[in-house]
Order: sequence, then structure tokens, then C-alpha cells
Amino acid sequence: MIDIVLAIGLVISTVIGMECIAWTVHKYLMHGPLWFIHKTHHQARKGLFELNDIFGIFFAIIAIGCFVQGITTDNSLMISIGVGITLYGFLYFFAHDIIVHQRVKMFAKSTNSYILALKKAHRIHHKTLTKKNAEEFGFLFVKKEYIQRSK
Ligand SMILES: [Zn+2]
Ligand SMILES: [Zn+2]
Repeated sequence: MIDIVLAIGLVISTVIGMECIAWTVHKYLMHGPLWFIHKTHHQARKGLFELNDIFGIFFAIIAIGCFVQGITTDNSLMISIGVGITLYGFLYFFAHDIIVHQRVKMFAKSTNSYILALKKAHRIHHKTLTKKNAEEFGFLFVKKEYIQRSK
């Protein structure tokens, strides 16, 4: 029983930790030395994919690595971290790519205040077409003020 509680706790902590990592990577690497990749996301997309999608693939490889390591060494904690990274990947794709960028046309007319706040904050991020002076680097986390203004 304690193992299940620990596993769920670790999955949730990993999801929260991944948002913190994503925020940091977005602010300091993607809008820093890795701008040459991330800039493809701040320009109009030609076609289905953009070079920036490589970041998703990178984190997917890390998750697969956790699963492989966890399964081969019978390490359930590592598997929980893998589940957390994978879950974050789905949430990130859902929030950022579907809800905000409408890569799949869904929830476009939602009036849910979290969804509206997420869109508002990320649109502010996309106002900047350059590496510098961007704001709002979160993907799932939204400041309270955006949620209040969306109500
Ligand atoms: Zn950006
Ligand atoms: Zn975006």
C-alpha cells in the first residue's frame, strides 16, 4: 500500500518538477543558446511539424530511458518518474499544442477560466518574435491574475 502511495506521490512530484524544468529550459535555453531551434515556434508554421518539436522528442527519450532502466533493474521509483515525465508530456501537448495553438481543433470555444487564462498568458509569450524580452514561460502553470481576469 505504502508503495502505491509513494509511486503516486513520485508521479505527481515529477509532473510538477517537469513544469519547473520546462519553464527554466524555455526561459534560459530556448530563449538563449537554443533559440535557433525554438525560433521555429515563434514563427508561422509551414506544415504539420516544426524544428521546435525536437524538445518533445528529447523528453520522450528521457522517459523511455527511465522505463528501460526501471524495468531492467526492477526499480519501481524509476518507472514512476518515467510515468510522470510521460504524463507531463501529454498534459503539455494538450495544454500548449491543442488548447493554445489548436494543432488539433478542440476546445476552441471553451469558456473554462483555466483554459482562457492559459491562452491569454501564452499569447503574451508569443507577442515576442525575438529571443529577448519574452514573458510568461510556463506551459501548465498560469499566474493567478490571468485566472481572475478570465472569470
Ligand atoms: Zn518561447
Ligand atoms: Zn507556444
